Amino acid sequence: MLAPKRLLTALALTLIGTTAQAADEVVVYSSRIDELIKPVFDAYTQETGVKIKFITDKEAPLMQRIKAEGENATADLLLTVDAGNLWQAEQMGILQPFTSPVIDANIPRQYRASSHAWTGLSLRARTIAYSTARVKPGELTTYEALADKQWEGRLCLRTAKKVYNQSLTATLIETHGEAKAEEIIKGWVNNLSTDVFSDDVAVLEAINAGQCDVGIVNTYYYGRLHKQKPDLGVKLFWPNQADRGVHVNLSGIGLTKHAPHPAAAKALVEWMTTAPAQKIFADVNQEFPANPAVAPSAEVAGWGKFTADSLPVEVAGKRQAQAIRLMDRAGWN
Ligand code: FE
Repeated sequence: MLAPKRLLTALALTLIGTTAQAADEVVVYSSRIDELIKPVFDAYTQETGVKIKFITDKEAPLMQRIKAEGENATADLLLTVDAGNLWQAEQMGILQPFTSPVIDANIPRQYRASSHAWTGLSLRARTIAYSTARVKPGELTTYEALADKQWEGRLCLRTAKKVYNQSLTATLIETHGEAKAEEIIKGWVNNLSTDVFSDDVAVLEAINAGQCDVGIVNTYYYGRLHKQKPDLGVKLFWPNQADRGVHVNLSGIGLTKHAPHPAAAKALVEWMTTAPAQKIFADVNQEFPANPAVAPSAEVAGWGKFTADSLPVEVAGKRQAQAIRLMDRAGWN
């Protein structure tokens, strides 16, 4: 039996303990669909007891909401796709850079912001897809070559409004300069077989249906459609293997400027770069782990090895505005 004073002390300690536990929560604003993030968050909660709340919406409203909440922030982390979007968040001043030896060791420098405002978590290549019925892979070489006369009336593209294409164009500008990049994009537009599509799956479906012979898509959309249609007459090609490599972009995460639980949030981000989390996170959407020590799924590995462009992906953000203007001038809708 405890003496009254010691009982009170024990009670106070219990209360302190309870308060500390209640703080073990992280709030994530996520533009990724729930099925893609829930398994990884569930695994973390199971391992650590830390609860993760997530709110899902498109990236623009989420970023606006973080900005509007200001110092009364509810979100600790912003999880979204494409370096172009993460760059935007950084420009809006809603992220809080932090350095972490764990993240630095797990994620290659080219897939992180040089400011440390965000880090990549999974990778996707934006590559060439072709009709196995009408194109021999030997006819394909580079993104640039899709502007050649050979592909006239044979190319399908997604809309220029999508950040994925803006990021790809940004890397063309970085590599070739604006004039040459514009020439290439004009060549692509000239070669279109039909109006631009609203999503990558529609591009793949159009190639499969014979509406066009080649297109440019993110790898996981191919994976998704291929799973539904194993006899899909479309394959992926890795361009620019003799020069700069395939354009790779990412999904990534950043700590918000006024995160209410910064320590817990940083710990979660660090864990998400480790092998067990990387495996779940990449596999669920057929992406490549951003941590090079972690192997992709058998399915993803089956698409073959390739050399990726070594440009830091933040180039996609730095040149985004320039890319949008260039695409507009070139007539890419
Ligand atoms: Fe996507």
